[in-house]
Amino acid sequence: MELDPAHDPARALHGHEGILAGLWSAARSSRLAHALAFVGPRGVGKFQAARRLAAGLFCDSMRAGASTAPCGTCAPCRRVRAGSHPDLFVIDVLELPADERPEELTIARFVRRERDDSWKGPTVDEFLALRAVEGGWRVILVREMERANVAAQNSILKMLEEPAELVLWILECSRPADLLPTIRSRCVQVHFEGLDAAAVHAVLAERGIAAPRAERLARWSRGSPGVALLRSSQCALEMRELLEIVQTGEAPPLIAARALWELEGEFDGKTAKAQERARARAFLDLALDVLSDVERAANGAAPEGLAHGDIAARADFACVASPILRRRALELLLGLRRDIEANLDPPTLTDRAFLALAPLAAPRQTQR
Ligand SMILES: [Zn+2]
Repeated sequence: MELDPAHDPARALHGHEGILAGLWSAARSSRLAHALAFVGPRGVGKFQAARRLAAGLFCDSMRAGASTAPCGTCAPCRRVRAGSHPDLFVIDVLELPADERPEELTIARFVRRERDDSWKGPTVDEFLALRAVEGGWRVILVREMERANVAAQNSILKMLEEPAELVLWILECSRPADLLPTIRSRCVQVHFEGLDAAAVHAVLAERGIAAPRAERLARWSRGSPGVALLRSSQCALEMRELLEIVQTGEAPPLIAARALWELEGEFDGKTAKAQERARARAFLDLALDVLSDVERAANGAAPEGLAHGDIAARADFACVASPILRRRALELLLGLRRDIEANLDPPTLTDRAFLALAPLAAPRQTQR
């Protein structure tokens, strides 16, 4: 698989180099815990930091004390970059295409079990039974650990209770509350924060997203480049345009609603229905963000501090001009957001959302 250059573990990470320097230093003086939980908001670079930490533990140059960060050129660094380092075991469901991604990580990924053929690839217990090929650290890295179900978490717990020399677990997680308390207590928690807008811009620029698109995505993602990229792939900019033309009465709500289903984005889900739900969810979350920000501005919050504060100044917007419409729409959208999870038809739900967002006096609306 061709690696995205932005994922190169030899590249310095925006915002997180101090954390890594501390962890490498702990490893040099044999003080590194055998299990780390990398926790913090989604999309801020925790997984990349984990791969970079591992690269630093394997790097010939760092092991020789010749550099303070992965050199990127020695054989171990090149293997980590290529995803082929034999002492690094990565469970990363996000590398699968969105339509093949399992919602849950099951025990089959961690422990080989007869009669369970839900996972045919290598497992963690098999990896742990091997010696380190390169004679140093062995690292197990689990991305989105919150996806692991209880049986899977219990299998990890058993392995964590029998720590082996020079074995490091890194559990990347955005929802630590979903981890078993026993797992949380066995890991040293390493906290990651959101990045400042300039750092988010820099990451987006590396991925080929230029201003002004990058500027808006950075503002809407609250310091998370990963969320900004996700929103970009889910057509957030185009979705907000649809919301805008309905709010100003430039387009009839049901025409805009139809356009929502024609946008070419990437939406998670193994089935067409699941992808429809993900698309409806993305739109409703965005619309709720916009309405909430307008409500906050109406209650005195400074618009420049709000993700969608630019809309708060638009007197031609229905949700700005009419607090009644805004609150009614907020209430209705929250209900629709809940109904998506109850498996109601997503296009019907988004039709209702667009109707609720249109100005009350829009002539096309009254024709229905
Ligand atoms: Zn190196």
